[in-house]
Amino acid sequence: MKTAKRQKKHKLENNGLPSIRQSHSQSQGKIFVISGPSGSGKTTLLSRLIQDKEISKLLIKSRSLTTRHRRLGERQGKDYFFVTKDEFRRLLKAKKILEWTRYLGYYYGTPRELVEAQLKKGRHIGFCLDLKGAAILKKIYPKNTVTVFVLPPSLKTLKTRIEGRCKSTDKKEVAQRLRLARRELLAAPGFDYCILNNNLQVALRELKEIVLAQIRS
Ligand code: ADP
Ligand code: 5GP
Repeated sequence: MKTAKRQKKHKLENNGLPSIRQSHSQSQGKIFVISGPSGSGKTTLLSRLIQDKEISKLLIKSRSLTTRHRRLGERQGKDYFFVTKDEFRRLLKAKKILEWTRYLGYYYGTPRELVEAQLKKGRHIGFCLDLKGAAILKKIYPKNTVTVFVLPPSLKTLKTRIEGRCKSTDKKEVAQRLRLARRELLAAPGFDYCILNNNLQVALRELKEIVLAQIRS
């Protein structure tokens, strides 16, 4: 009894890391994790990629849960599932979240059901995740996870992009995102691929090439 209680506690405190690695044999589809600092262009690249005629038949985009506030133009259930902290905790306890992270005090998590069902069907899925999420998916699905790091051209450009994305993002949050970005950039060499997102069309072409090559391999 004591041990079971301890294990349960451990799972919740494990910061998104499931205690048991899942069976890879069940999952046929590929997982593409797009990661990199906030503002580097992950969301833009993945959204544009799945609009591509060829790619749209092959790849779906995972939608995360988040407790952060909605940005102008973001839609419930399309960009994110915006939930309260209580709802997030309830889903976590019910094991409905495959992996999760805490970023600037907000919670973000991947709904488990959609991912597992789609992978079993052999569908390929694209994710935009922080570094921790990328590492966790690679750990759960080591053979079919491909990680891509998106690099901004410079920290100055990154700042401009973060500020430009949402004028209402307060200065403190922009500074926090930039501070984190400096650290996150150091992780780039650990990824399967790195893409420089200077010219969007060039970066998009590179991402498409990576995805097609991996799906066909
Ligand atoms: P992330 O998902 O990594 O936080 P976004 O995709 O939201 O970043 O991009 C941040 C901002 O930068 C958005 O306003 C987006 O339109 C813009 N952006 C993304 N890529 C480029 C690019 N290559 N050139 C100019 N602006 C870009
Ligand atoms: P943003 O607030 O800019 O939308 O997201 C903040 C960070 O959280 C980004 O790095 C984004 O990729 C990451 N993120 C979004 N959803 C998830 C998720 O479900 N899991 C993990 N691990 N990271 C996420």
